[in-house]
Amino acid sequence: MHPFSFTKVSDTREALDAGRRGGRYIAGGTTLVDLMRETVERPETLVDITGLPLREVSVTERGGLRVGALVRMAEAATHPKVRTLYPVISQALELSASAQLRNMATIGGNIMQRTRCTYFRDVTAACNKREPGSGCAARVGFNRAHAILGTSDQCVATHPSDVAVAFAALDATVHLLGPEGERHVPFLDFLLKPGSTPHREQALQRGELITAVEIPAHPRPLKSGYLKVRDRQSYEFALTSAAVALHVRGGVIREAKAAAGGVGTVPWKLSTVERHLIGERPSEALWAEAARHAADGAHPLEHNGFKVELLRRTVERQLRIVGGAK
Ligand code: SF4
Repeated sequence: MHPFSFTKVSDTREALDAGRRGGRYIAGGTTLVDLMRETVERPETLVDITGLPLREVSVTERGGLRVGALVRMAEAATHPKVRTLYPVISQALELSASAQLRNMATIGGNIMQRTRCTYFRDVTAACNKREPGSGCAARVGFNRAHAILGTSDQCVATHPSDVAVAFAALDATVHLLGPEGERHVPFLDFLLKPGSTPHREQALQRGELITAVEIPAHPRPLKSGYLKVRDRQSYEFALTSAAVALHVRGGVIREAKAAAGGVGTVPWKLSTVERHLIGERPSEALWAEAARHAADGAHPLEHNGFKVELLRRTVERQLRIVGGAK
């Protein structure tokens, strides 16, 4: 591990000052410390933000939900409001990592976590994300777990978060605080596809701090859930996953929200699937027809072609689970 300095801040102003000077924010540290041990990350200064007042889950005036950036994954997963209003968030969190990690890791850290591409973590391998311009070992190497959507010549790594898939489905917003003040960024714009700059992963400006994630109000009742398909049933990342939320009134789907994980360089919004559902009556045929579009635009690699069909089936199954079958 490379030497670094460590400072603990007690208010946001102090945090922003340290961030502006190039300090790296740390809370649960469940990803960053691992990467520092492997010398993938080499921050000069760590800024411990665990003392900041960002640990609240609250219902907003407009009826949405605001989850503070420092709320632990386990706290968010078991919070009564999260469980009642957005089971899809609860389930995505509970299917993530391990109980120990969920007790440490925060919501802000979770969406900031870096890819699990093995070449990214191997400092002897070529990796444009770790070292811009060095190449991409995964493109010619073993790429079974890699992305089929949102890829570029430069990088094909998946985003590993589960709860980020739920946030993408629900059209969440990321609240940021920086030297220039507050701003709110749509979740889908916050995480960046690799393009020609895979080392840039979030739409963050220097020194900016995530303060919360807000889920907008949705019509009630909203049925939702998360399905994760993986090589083993515990402590494993998704090969494919689906977050689905449906509002059905008068026998017709009035609102449909869907996103996929394990397949995209960012959580993958399933806009075409959503469009096929809205205004229709729930049925087996509808789930199958909508899910057929889940992998539209996919570019499979040598070892991950199976994800195309697996994704369609994951989405179809989750639509059936959430929407029922007639
Ligand atoms: Fe690096 Fe991305 Fe290629 Fe993995 S897929 S080796 S993270 S550039």
